[in-house]
Amino acid sequence: MKVTAMDIYKLLPKTNCGDCGEASCMAFATKLSEKEIDLKVCEPLDTPEREKLEDLLAPAVREVIMGTGDKKVILGGDEVLYRYELTYYNPTALVIDVNDELESEELDERINIIENTKFERTGELLTLDAIAVRNKSGDAKKFADTVSHLKNSKYPLVLCSLDPNAMKAALEIVGNQRPLIYAATENNLDAMAQLALEYKCPLALFVPGDLEKMKQLSHTLRSQGIEDIVLDPGTFVGEGMGDTLDNFIMIRRLAVEERDDDFRFPILGIPALVRLDNTEDNINKSIQEATVTATLLNKYADLLILNGTDIWEIIPILTLRQGLFTDPRKPQTVDAGLYEFGELDDASPVLLTTNFALTYYTVEGDLKSGKANTYLLVLDTDGRAVDVSLAGGQLNGKSVADLIKETGIENKIKHKKMIIPGLAAPLSGEIEDDSGWEVAVGPRDSSAVPDYLLENL
Ligand code: SF4
Repeated sequence: MKVTAMDIYKLLPKTNCGDCGEASCMAFATKLSEKEIDLKVCEPLDTPEREKLEDLLAPAVREVIMGTGDKKVILGGDEVLYRYELTYYNPTALVIDVNDELESEELDERINIIENTKFERTGELLTLDAIAVRNKSGDAKKFADTVSHLKNSKYPLVLCSLDPNAMKAALEIVGNQRPLIYAATENNLDAMAQLALEYKCPLALFVPGDLEKMKQLSHTLRSQGIEDIVLDPGTFVGEGMGDTLDNFIMIRRLAVEERDDDFRFPILGIPALVRLDNTEDNINKSIQEATVTATLLNKYADLLILNGTDIWEIIPILTLRQGLFTDPRKPQTVDAGLYEFGELDDASPVLLTTNFALTYYTVEGDLKSGKANTYLLVLDTDGRAVDVSLAGGQLNGKSVADLIKETGIENKIKHKKMIIPGLAAPLSGEIEDDSGWEVAVGPRDSSAVPDYLLENL
């Protein structure tokens, strides 16, 4: 259950001293419940209450760190089952697998693709997060050689072998980089636990389709002093997908609603299983892998291992992840003001849009790709799109007139003509009346703006 501001307030000093910079203890409690301030800021708090609050505020799902320094990836940390209740923290790590039977050239090519896969959307650079090295050969030396090859990769590693000897050989090489050890099972539990303790690495626990057994083994690991565990309840692709989803949901419910300490860990899934046993690389496998990934991203995977690297498969996954891990309570905005594109002079056209991030970056992308030379006025509509802000009243004649004055655009050009989005057409007369500018109604879709400018100006 989400910790409320009142739960927190009960443990605070209630003196309203203001040392934390907040007007009252209740205001501090409200910010703390939203993770907008640190508990440490309340210095007058006594130790027993501080410890109780630290316990209360610990996330339902433990944060587990994989990698070190610049390579660090944080898994887990979530508090709620539904995003609208708070937000989701720490985006699901997307990991691509390689194996120790790849020739050196093939391996380099794959590493290159993984490390250079990137996609910019709404001002954010979306990338992959880690590389999983699979001991496909079953040979400890081959595994160690491949891991050695990846030692300087820019991403952290997931070491995949059920053989403790192979795992130790790999950890001898990259143990100080805090790779995720995959995996402890019922059969190798003690040996893998020892390796996790010796190298201070997080440990994945693989117990396919049996949550009772998973609880028992998780408890055993915890009793041995292992705190950083990642749970893999099995990814049963095809007809087993329903059971897979049930297990993921059940684990997260046990963590969030029951605070069951044996399940308060990140969850791992392997959509790559769709095609790991099938060397034939066909398009249906890629679509199936992307579908399994999307399903588990929604419920509640913290790390997913994929095999496919086609950009058309990866982009929808990155986009979905970005959407899921964007705080739904905060509008995504860009700064309002005047933006410039291309080569400008005092006769350059002036466009208008709103500061909703998705709108702005779409317009920006279209103007850049169309090599448009134009000024762009961006109106603060609290992150609302054109049609929404028109309906809500944030986009109106006076606000546009104020924006013209605030940006000083009139000092840069010798005309008073503005092109507004097609969706804002009903406002053209009001803008003309309030600003004294002449208004032309442009295309509804910004992709048509560059051609519109060429044709009309
Ligand atoms: S510093 Fe602590 S006691 Fe003082 S107002 Fe803030 S929360 Fe309350």
